[in-house]
Amino acid sequence: MCRHLAYLGPPVTLASLVLEPAHSLYEQSWAPHDMRGGGTVNADGFGLAWYGDGGPVRYRRDVPIWTDQNLVDLAGSIRSGAVLAAVRNGTVGMPYGEAAVAPFKSGNWLFSHNGRIPGWPESTLKLAERLPVSHLLQLDAPVDSAFLWTLIAHRLREDVDAPDAVADVLQEVESTAPGSRLNVLLTDGHQIVGTTWTHSLWVRHTGDSTTVASEPFGDGGWDEVPEYSLLVATATTLRITSMKGPQ
Ligand code: GLN
Repeated sequence: MCRHLAYLGPPVTLASLVLEPAHSLYEQSWAPHDMRGGGTVNADGFGLAWYGDGGPVRYRRDVPIWTDQNLVDLAGSIRSGAVLAAVRNGTVGMPYGEAAVAPFKSGNWLFSHNGRIPGWPESTLKLAERLPVSHLLQLDAPVDSAFLWTLIAHRLREDVDAPDAVADVLQEVESTAPGSRLNVLLTDGHQIVGTTWTHSLWVRHTGDSTTVASEPFGDGGWDEVPEYSLLVATATTLRITSMKGPQ
């Protein structure tokens, strides 16, 4: 399973979030603690995205994060108060390449998925049929995560609240493709929506910042989010509610 994190709070360098802490996302790419049967390393690419003055900016590569010669300088020189980052362990059968690596982006939104949709694409044809053809043609890559993002982004475009859009789509995907693993992070730079749907998520809320991550890193202060939860947070607020889970 991939590893991901999101941060909202006072501006920090990307390096202080992703590279420098003990058991950082960087280290989790080759030595994750808790993969729950979803592979062993996260070496199929990585992506960092951050909000600056003009909306979200992404840096994605299709190489293991530890092989990128430019990353240390880049991440040390960029500061942001809103970040989403992921390292990928591509599901067997899914294509390889930069376009298949999170964060996925649409307008001001960034999205990451840790998990898989069994039987994709056949298992989700009914859901695909309901999408405008133009959205399907613009799928970032033929991968389950990009499809999941397209389903959620479609709801967001219809002005559904982000937490409802995520919760509704997860329920629909699970009923169409039972056994799906749907751990997602979504942000617009002001709010984070996260889910636990068969995988871990941890949260560190300090009062002026919120960090959520597949595995805790750096200093303490982390709480584990229970299975089948919907987390909605800003830098200063945190709400965790139960989702129905598989019916
Ligand atoms: N299924 C997604 C992919 O192939 C996510 C993989 C994962 O979480 N390990 O990229």
